[in-house]
Amino acid sequence: DLRVRFCPSPTGTPHVGMVRTALFNWAQARHSHGKLIFRIEDTDAVRDSEESYDQIIDALRWLGLDWDEGVEVGGPYAPYRQSQRSDIYQDVAAKLLEAGYAYESYSTAEEIEARNLAAGRPKAFGYDGFDRKLTDEQKAQFQAEGRQPALRLKMPDEDIAFDDLIRGRIEFKAGSVPDYVIVRPNGDPLYTLTNPVDDALMRINVVLRGEDLLSSTPRQIILYRYLIELGIAKEMPVFGHMPYVMGEGKKKLSKRDPESNLFLHRENGFIPEGLLNYLALLGWSIAPDRDVFSMDEMVEHFDVRDVKANPAHFDIDKATAINAEHIRMLDSHDFLERSLPYLKREGMLSSDSWQNLSDREREILNAAAPLVQPRVRLLGEVPGMMESLLSQEEYLEPAPDARKQLKESAAEVLTQASQALDGVSADEWTTDHLHDVLTQALVDEGGYKPRLAFGPVRVAVSGRRVSPPLFESLEIIGKDTTLRRLQNLRE
Ligand code: GLU
Repeated sequence: DLRVRFCPSPTGTPHVGMVRTALFNWAQARHSHGKLIFRIEDTDAVRDSEESYDQIIDALRWLGLDWDEGVEVGGPYAPYRQSQRSDIYQDVAAKLLEAGYAYESYSTAEEIEARNLAAGRPKAFGYDGFDRKLTDEQKAQFQAEGRQPALRLKMPDEDIAFDDLIRGRIEFKAGSVPDYVIVRPNGDPLYTLTNPVDDALMRINVVLRGEDLLSSTPRQIILYRYLIELGIAKEMPVFGHMPYVMGEGKKKLSKRDPESNLFLHRENGFIPEGLLNYLALLGWSIAPDRDVFSMDEMVEHFDVRDVKANPAHFDIDKATAINAEHIRMLDSHDFLERSLPYLKREGMLSSDSWQNLSDREREILNAAAPLVQPRVRLLGEVPGMMESLLSQEEYLEPAPDARKQLKESAAEVLTQASQALDGVSADEWTTDHLHDVLTQALVDEGGYKPRLAFGPVRVAVSGRRVSPPLFESLEIIGKDTTLRRLQNLRE
């Protein structure tokens, strides 16, 4: 049975590439009725943080990506945080040393460089295998000098090849991957050891991760081979390396780019459905010419072998357009519930929980939902669209672009609109009737083109150039406030 894993290092705020990795592993697990294991690789005390850990959990929970074993939920291979597994790594390291698959290495970076220089090898050559042949006397000498050895894994002198699920056959020439450090001189195990050891112990059989880790795969294959021989691993996993995500121009999207920041997208009003749908398209597609789908559909169709190897481009406009589609698909109450925090954040509501809102607030929100929901791409746009409806202000300062729209005739138009609306009784104050009254007064009798007739009215009652439909808005705003706003813009 399929066992995949998501194993981030908690070194910063969750980013797009990280979430795409989580999503593809999740989708593969769900598609194949396998298991997703969620492990935290926090062996780097300097860079890892508890805050980052909390953020990663928050991100996955918000997105609705669940896991079967791992941090927070437990499982048969607990603990799932590497910082709590040091004994295991020590034990495996000792076995590798004893079996001769690893050896003690005293060379410092400077010594390695000096030897390469002296032998006329390029700097990039890396480690030269020097400590493989140390005699007992040499070792004793180093120890007497107070040196502590690192532990290095022996790379065999042979080509290493594997079949990548996404990229096909990949080969590394013999000698291109030097013996590498798996335990630091101070005893700290490195990613190079902990990652494959845990994959082995947790019985991971498919490793799906980013292309940036491709260079560590030949090392891991060799380590895996040793682990199998030692009876620690059962079988070699299959690997798949997902394409890079590119940002603007030809540059890789960096963790530090704002476009990469998951929580920024959340603050701007992406909903999980929209964001996940877009992230799914970074390397995969459900069908030609089809961009919008649900996670259920993704799970039904996802197969990592269909992922494309060439780089994917992060396109925020496309992501936003897809999000808009998902916002439209929400049922109207759900749309409102999800909008509440954004409205509260702008100070437009008394609470961000539906229960605690006033009757007036709820009434306006219910009336506004059908007007606003089809017109926003991000939930962060909801406050702007609803401001004029929720506010009881009798004057809304027009936005600069709205004010620019006001032609010379605006004052005249607003006077005529006020007069016409003043004659409408409170129980006739409905969308259809308001439409008829204003059309008659301004267009039929006033002789204004519709744009010149209704533009100023829109600016007066909403303060904006783009707003929810005018007559519906007037109905929601009510007669008193409408008349005052018309009056106050006039003056
Ligand atoms: N902890 C590693 C990282 O975040 C995981 C690499 C892997 O998936 O093998 O880059």
